Parts: sequence; C-alpha cells; structure tokens
Amino acid sequence: MARAGWRPVLRAARIGRIGVMSLPSDCLFCQFVDGSLETEVVGQNQKAIAFRDINPQAPVHVLVIPREHYVDVAALAAADPETLADLVALAQEVALVEADGEYRLIFNSGPTAGQSVFHVHGHVIGGTKLGWTPA
Ligand code: AMP
Ligand code: ZN
Repeated sequence: MARAGWRPVLRAARIGRIGVMSLPSDCLFCQFVDGSLETEVVGQNQKAIAFRDINPQAPVHVLVIPREHYVDVAALAAADPETLADLVALAQEVALVEADGEYRLIFNSGPTAGQSVFHVHGHVIGGTKLGWTPA
C-alpha cells in the first residue's frame, strides 16, 4: 500500500524538476557530452565522463556525469543502475590516479542541498585531508 502512494509523488517531482530547470537541450553538462562546449576531460568510459570542476573546492575536484541526462542520482539509480555503477567506477579510476584512491564522492540532490546543475553529477573531492562541515 505504501508503494502505491509513493510512486506518483516521486514521478511528479521528477517531471516537475525536468520541466522547470533542466531540459537537456539547454543543459550545460549535456553540451560537454555532445562536444558543443569544451571542458577539461580527465577520464571517460562508455557511459560516463569526468571533467575538472571550474571552481575547485579541494586540490582534486572532478565531476563525473552520465552521458545521458538525468536530473539527480535517484533518477539515474531508478532508471539505469548499471550506468550509476559505471559512474562510480569512473570516479574510482580518477581518484586512484589523482588522490591515491582516497576521496569523497558527493551527489548534491535539490537546491537546498546545493545542487545548481540539474544533470546528475558526482563531485570527486580529494587530494588533502578533508573536514566534515557541510553547513
Ligand atoms: P552542484 O552545485 O552540486 O550542482 O555542482 C555544480 C558544479 O558544477 C559546481 O561545483 C560548479 O563549480 C561546476 N561548474 C559549473 N559550471 C561549470 C563549468 N563550465 N565547467 C566545469 N564545472 C562547472
Ligand atoms: Zn544534461
């Protein structure tokens, strides 16, 4: 019974966010994927690419994104868990090269949590001792 109530709410939230803020046609990260805008790519696989964040918060700050457009990590996990696994594998690969394999992988989900680009991306953060102060 709980599932019956949960599904429509989740679907409505997803459609709402896509409609308001993240049509793939004007999505910055989709433009990195299709090559119409340049960025510093540091790794890629069949399903995901990794590029440097323009405003790094640590010595290593790389974004990993799926080539396909999804609004956030929950939408990606629900629609295509294999691509999410490939995204995490790419984060690990980048972190092995750039941060000895020790890193934080952060998915901000929603504006209150700090999400500003509505194409799912994991922040690969490392290269220094990290603090723990999200607020
Ligand atoms: P979030 O705030 O979690 O949505 O993360 C979006 C990230 O995208 C921020 O860390 C920005 O610095 C980064 N960003 C925005 N524009 C660009 C760009 N043109 N190239 C690389 N990173 C960008
Ligand atoms: Zn996109």
